[in-house]
Amino acid sequence: MITTKKVRSTAKMVLSRTRRSLHPVLRMIERGDARYCPCCKSYLRRFKPYGEIVVRPEAMCGVCGSVERDRLMHLFINQKTDLLDGRRKKLLHIAPELSMRALFQSGDYIDYLSADLSDVSAMEKMDITEIQYPANTFDVIYCSHVLEHVPDDRKAMREFLRVLKPGRWAILHVPITADVTYEDPSVTDPKERERLFGQFDHVRRYGPDYATRLADAGFVVETHPFAEEMGATIATQCGLDPKEAVYLCRKP
Ligand SMILES: [Zn+2]
Repeated sequence: MITTKKVRSTAKMVLSRTRRSLHPVLRMIERGDARYCPCCKSYLRRFKPYGEIVVRPEAMCGVCGSVERDRLMHLFINQKTDLLDGRRKKLLHIAPELSMRALFQSGDYIDYLSADLSDVSAMEKMDITEIQYPANTFDVIYCSHVLEHVPDDRKAMREFLRVLKPGRWAILHVPITADVTYEDPSVTDPKERERLFGQFDHVRRYGPDYATRLADAGFVVETHPFAEEMGATIATQCGLDPKEAVYLCRKP
């Protein structure tokens, strides 16, 4: 049966392939010296407006489609992790963003696997609350803006911990939009979810106590106020949200 989700993810796959082949042309069109996208290494006049409910005026790279969080993570992973040290590693990329794929596939020493519950452009189908891999399989896991859609996010966190090798790391990024995490499983109406959680398919809002939830699952969590550390000039140039932090999760 062809579902709306399948049509949407096939369209996304076609669009992403088309976009990649258009990078050189888009880079010429968008060229400038006020902004820089670390994901596609493009110098730009400006970032483009993006956002479904609240439109952020300078959010999206007109070449690769990266948004603030992608550029932040790109810089963080380059500067603060061992991803690109040339040693062999197995990487799991959940809900794979095109703007991050090039980084994760930048060396043949990275054994890359993308996975998603419904996106057919991903290499494998995967339910992150029941991962079909044995314990201690992956060196790196990247999962951004997914857990706020998952009813049993604590189970997903435990699954990520299980399949990660001891001593290795994961970035499980979520939007932090509340002072304290707020969820109510009885709310299932999309309009009500949008009102309470900010988007029709979100099941909670996370607060900075997200780090505690990750620690409860068994991770050793380092909170990096990385956008702030980069300073105002780089934050503006690379189009970062200065308040956005990175939670780096290690398996003990
Ligand atoms: Zn870009």
